[in-house]
Amino acid sequence: MKSIKGKIVIISSPSGGGKSSICRQLLKNNKKDNWQFSVSYTTRPPRKNETNGIEYNFVTHAKFQELKKKNEFAESCQVHRYYYGTSRKPLDKVLKKGGVMLLDVDVKGAKKLKEQFPSAVTIFILPPGRLELKKRLMERGTDNSTQKRIRYKRALSEIKLYKRFEYVVINKDLKPAVDEVDMIIKSLHCRQKNLNLEQMNRIVG
Ligand code: 5GP
Repeated sequence: MKSIKGKIVIISSPSGGGKSSICRQLLKNNKKDNWQFSVSYTTRPPRKNETNGIEYNFVTHAKFQELKKKNEFAESCQVHRYYYGTSRKPLDKVLKKGGVMLLDVDVKGAKKLKEQFPSAVTIFILPPGRLELKKRLMERGTDNSTQKRIRYKRALSEIKLYKRFEYVVINKDLKPAVDEVDMIIKSLHCRQKNLNLEQMNRIVG
């Protein structure tokens, strides 16, 4: 069995779970070690404070369809009213060359990616409770009230899907949640299926 060099980390949660903040902090803490974020393509318009190429590659519907036809996406789907797609090439590159690639995708995207990249790890971030979830979503300055209602309804059905994930982290406070995800990622190379076989042979003969 070939040992895989890089780690693909699929992080999913309902809106309000806090996965974007967790990803941002993980990248900041591990800048030196080649941790990257998979910048998805989306047809959603940018929100205030979002920059093209940083949070997302913001594209038109036509461009999105063109990329999809060219098989540039490892997976794509519709979330709310918009399309989202994960670039395939950066994932292949990380597996070959090493490093950590964090992906922030919805539950369906996580399933499709895990099927294609079985060595990837799946982590679900849960809010500490439904009341807190509602509070976080209702306080979001970036959504109007209809969007808030849609997101809350969808989030309530998504939190029930936590069993589909290999790891579950409850995000009550940001720092301990970031630390837990960080520990999960940093110990992945100890998983039996991720062991470096050359190193094992040197040790055990
Ligand atoms: P938002 O518009 O709030 O940034 O994201 C909406 C949802 O789309 C979130 O659950 C986010 O994780 C998900 N998402 C973002 N990029 C992708 C992607 O490339 N593929 C999939 N399947 N979901 C994505």
